[in-house]
Amino acid sequence: MTDFQKRIDKAKKLIEKADCVIIGAGAGLSTAAGFEYSGQIFDKYFSDFKEKYGFNDMYSGGFYPFKTQEEKWAYWSRYVYLNRYKNKDNKLYKKLLDFVQSKDYFVITTNVDHQFQLAGFDKNRLFYMQGDYGLFQCSLPCHNKTYDNEKQILNMVEKQKDMKIPASLIPKCPVCGRDMEMNLRSDERFVQDEGWYQHARLYNDFIEKSNDKFRVLIEIGVGYNTPGIIKFPFEQMTFYNEKTYLIRINKEYATCPREIRDKTILFNEDVEMILNNLK
Ligand SMILES: [Zn+2]
Repeated sequence: MTDFQKRIDKAKKLIEKADCVIIGAGAGLSTAAGFEYSGQIFDKYFSDFKEKYGFNDMYSGGFYPFKTQEEKWAYWSRYVYLNRYKNKDNKLYKKLLDFVQSKDYFVITTNVDHQFQLAGFDKNRLFYMQGDYGLFQCSLPCHNKTYDNEKQILNMVEKQKDMKIPASLIPKCPVCGRDMEMNLRSDERFVQDEGWYQHARLYNDFIEKSNDKFRVLIEIGVGYNTPGIIKFPFEQMTFYNEKTYLIRINKEYATCPREIRDKTILFNEDVEMILNNLK
């Protein structure tokens, strides 16, 4: 038996036995699912921005302080459209759902591309804590509410010209009239609305109720941008709870602290290949 097969067998047994499963997913999962932020797709949709500003991927462009709202929203509407609204095959997410559907599961993710919901995961078993490309908030913010942006984004994509949207389409806060902003956590202005708190509670309840159960944590593609959200808490849960085990899937950082080594299974192989083998 190869080492890979041994790890697969071990993981399979754990999952079969588990009373519940918690999935913690980071950017690496969407990358594995084929969501690209650079390369061909960037050149196809952003060659004008590339030429003018020199950035080479969507993510970097997202941090650029555009001088006008018209230009900023020309950029962001394309970005959001491609990663949130354009129909894409997210079969890797569906495969993951197939895999956990029969279990008592919960998902926590730092991904903001809405792919768990689009794949059919139960919304009440999800905590997407860093925001969502599909939501606007007030830029101040003057109040704690978020707004679906689909209609506005599609309109901006359609009506933009020469890297600018018409001034009449600049999204404005319905309460104070200031500019709107994406509901993405980048600083302390991030709005955590009622839904955010509700899902935070669901997640915390799930953890509390399962602390003494046979529990398997499956961490996929979580890097070191914000390790305090998934990575470190998962390691701590594994350490402190006797019947909690960790399966860590990570192409770059398939390692773990020595203290939990015998309760952790590490994979640096391709996510899809792993899921196929675990079935
Ligand atoms: Zn406002």
